[in-house]
Amino acid sequence: MATQKEDLIVDLIIDTNEEASFIPHEDISTQRVPVLIWPNEKLKQKSVLIEDFDTNESHELNQLVLNMLGVILPRGGLALAAPQIGIFKRLIVMTLGGRTYVMVNPEIIESSTEDFQWEEGCLSVPGFFKKNKRPNKCTVKYFDIYGKNFTAKLEGLAAFCVQHEIDHLNGVCFADDLNLYYRSKAKKKINTYKKEVEKQVQILEKLYREKEQNAHNPLNKPRSRKIFPDAKDGVLNLNNKS
Ligand SMILES: [Zn+2]
Repeated sequence: MATQKEDLIVDLIIDTNEEASFIPHEDISTQRVPVLIWPNEKLKQKSVLIEDFDTNESHELNQLVLNMLGVILPRGGLALAAPQIGIFKRLIVMTLGGRTYVMVNPEIIESSTEDFQWEEGCLSVPGFFKKNKRPNKCTVKYFDIYGKNFTAKLEGLAAFCVQHEIDHLNGVCFADDLNLYYRSKAKKKINTYKKEVEKQVQILEKLYREKEQNAHNPLNKPRSRKIFPDAKDGVLNLNNKS
């Protein structure tokens, strides 16, 4: 999911503010993680269930989450599904209301009949938004990265987001259903927006790299190996700077 262009610019300004609550920059992947752009055929691939969860020794899913946040945050996005960066595993990351939700093998077990309307956007269809309706409430079963199971009752934008991301896990992008008029509109938006966003992303990535270099400076205190101490309940608190 993506935010409107106006929101993105506001987010970018906030992100460069030293005082802003944020995941410590040095934790977020600073490598270029390419995002599959619609209508790339790979976005139609169905993702597989995750069977190997993280342990004290293995941090593979944690690293995947960091790579995904490295895509979401500089772009001012709301959420991302692993297949959007070419990892065809059932994992989604959503950043909403100052919290980051990490859901492994998410599954909607109940949906409301009433709808919620939102200007739907997607980091794989950058710059394009279209009004869409999805069920206003849904109940989601999921695991955290350590394999502990949870059930979340989501409403409004959070429910909308999780449905959009689970669609990606099933090889579905909201733009797939567009008629010819909107398809060509989406493609034009992608082309112009990509250039603009890439410029902004480069600026932010440079900032992240500088932060990372500072963190690795031997004069600075060494950081704990455990990257997200709160990740095991499936919800990360972005305000936690420890
Ligand atoms: Zn999307």
